[in-house]
Amino acid sequence: MPPENVPASSSETPNTPPPAAAKPPPGWVIGPDGKPCKICTAFRNWKPRNASASDAAGSKSSSSTNTGTSAAAAAAALAASQATPAEPTRPENCPPDVEVLGRATWTFLHTTAAYYPEKPTPTQRAHMLGLLHALPALYACSSCAEDFGERVRAHPPDVSGRGALSRWLCERHNEVNEKLGKKTFDCATEKLDERWKDGPADGSCD
Ligand SMILES: Cc1cc2nc3c(=O)[nH]c(=O)nc-3n(C[C@H](O)[C@H](O)[C@H](O)COP(=O)(O)OP(=O)(O)OC[C@H]3O[C@@H](n4cnc5c(N)ncnc54)[C@H](O)[C@@H]3O)c2cc1C
Repeated sequence: MPPENVPASSSETPNTPPPAAAKPPPGWVIGPDGKPCKICTAFRNWKPRNASASDAAGSKSSSSTNTGTSAAAAAAALAASQATPAEPTRPENCPPDVEVLGRATWTFLHTTAAYYPEKPTPTQRAHMLGLLHALPALYACSSCAEDFGERVRAHPPDVSGRGALSRWLCERHNEVNEKLGKKTFDCATEKLDERWKDGPADGSCD
């Protein structure tokens, strides 16, 4: 798999293609069809890093020049213009990016596993298997889906009971965490239950 958020050689039709994209902007993920994939890409990479921050710095700089004020103001304007651009702020009503979708999906999956029966019926097992096998076929981030499908093939889901399923899911999530350079999670039952079902012992989530 290509590294995340790095244009690669595979594809997906984006909802909105990047502007005049002969070559996609840096940070866009290319889907399995060779096209830029918006839902596979983090919002911060949807647009080039932050035009508005440098605009703001530029206007600060010109306003201090216009008023002819102190060297301190000029130095502040210079510092602002050289500062690392801020991350774009994502309005609440935007469609999900790869991170918002991922967080919501993991929440759904881990919570579903946490409340799955310890002794599921054959029908419950079949439903759970159906859900997990449907994900790689339907997940909107196609590069994530393809990758997750390979993980599910390499490690078939253990739907024998709540504990086994939660651990299986934790391990798959950790594989994605590692791929993205994130910290891994302790897959001990107590830790999973604390995070996804019971909350911490100090009662702070009760
Ligand atoms: C099936 C799937 C595949 C994905 N593939 C990709 C991909 O290929 N590329 C990409 O850029 N993004 C992918 N994502 C999204 C990515 O995994 C994250 O969801 C996203 O980057 C946001 O990360 P986050 O740091 O907010 O926490 P998330 O990884 O979304 O985790 C949410 C919360 O779950 C808890 N947690 C973390 N790890 C575990 C674990 N192992 N077990 C139990 N709980 C845990 C933590 O409390 C964390 O805050 C995928 C998401 C899903 C659901």
